[in-house]
Amino acid sequence: MSDIEKVKCLIIGSGPAGYTAAIYAARADMSPMLYQGMQPGGQLTTTNEVENFPGYPDGVTGPEMMVQLEAQAKRFETDVRFGFITKVDFSGDVHKAWADDGTEIHADTIIISTGASAKYLGLESEQKYLKLGGGVSACAVCDGFFYRGHETVIVGAGDSACEEAHYLSKLCTKVTMLVRRDEFRASKIMAERVKNTENIEILFNTETEEVLGDGQVVTGVLVKNNISGDLTDIPATGFFVAIGHKPNTDIFKDFINLDDTGYIEYEEPGTSKTNVPGVFVAGDAADKTYRQAITAAGTGCIAALDAERYLAAKGH
Ligand code: NDP
Repeated sequence: MSDIEKVKCLIIGSGPAGYTAAIYAARADMSPMLYQGMQPGGQLTTTNEVENFPGYPDGVTGPEMMVQLEAQAKRFETDVRFGFITKVDFSGDVHKAWADDGTEIHADTIIISTGASAKYLGLESEQKYLKLGGGVSACAVCDGFFYRGHETVIVGAGDSACEEAHYLSKLCTKVTMLVRRDEFRASKIMAERVKNTENIEILFNTETEEVLGDGQVVTGVLVKNNISGDLTDIPATGFFVAIGHKPNTDIFKDFINLDDTGYIEYEEPGTSKTNVPGVFVAGDAADKTYRQAITAAGTGCIAALDAERYLAAKGH
């Protein structure tokens, strides 16, 4: 038999959105329980240096910042659980969730902050330098600054890739963009912008064979023209992957309205409300545009305030 635990507020996910929601909910006496999920600390734990989060004038590493956010949430007695939620049932008045250890949770309010995961190519060399923090990144806005004055390569042809290539072009001496087909997927205006940027070279019909490096850091990218079969070495110290994100929302799809790419839809723009009363969303699970730690933290705060008001209106 599974244990049933009753809580006022269950927070699912432990990135900046989840921990900020926890800090606010805990300080509002909601005694939140927070399940950390598959990747405790979220996407930031794969980022080296965070220099754009206000309040850290000398920067902070992603993992360090998440340890501090966790400590701040615990300081106000958030019940932080290691583990992940495998199933939910939002069909009744009480929202139910089940954790991987068999615990059944009955929550008056739920804040979904499960985030999104950047997609990678899956090449062994890409994963090696990603894990080493040696020059592979899925976020130009987060990491581009470290490649100031360097040459970089970016893969992808959607709006994100165009936006990120343009961002990098302002910092890097040269940006080479690898597009696997003979055309962009991005909107015309975004594609035109990269085409008209002098230091962005676009290679169509081109795919990544291997990320090259010296065992510690990236030194170049081996690419293949998928029509001619020609192989070329491109010197670069940074390899950026911008081939899309996948929101971590699969377990909610039977109850929560998602858009056609899996992002949670807000029921009421400007709030954190989903289509299920008492279930709120914060962070990248509902944000395919901004995806920053600070915006996730901001929506985490909104979700906790919305949850508090929901409970107050119900007389809790
Ligand atoms: P998209 O899914 O739109 O684009 C992904 C791109 O990556 C495609 O060009 C795709 O190629 C390419 N790709 C996928 N897999 C591989 C692979 N294995 N090798 C090489 N290339 C690959 O994702 P985005 O993140 O760009 O955008 C997501 C959504 O967010 C879109 O709706 C977009 O419009 C929106 N957005 C809007 C912005 C804005 O308006 N400012 C900014 C950023 C995003 P192919 O085309 O061949 O399939």
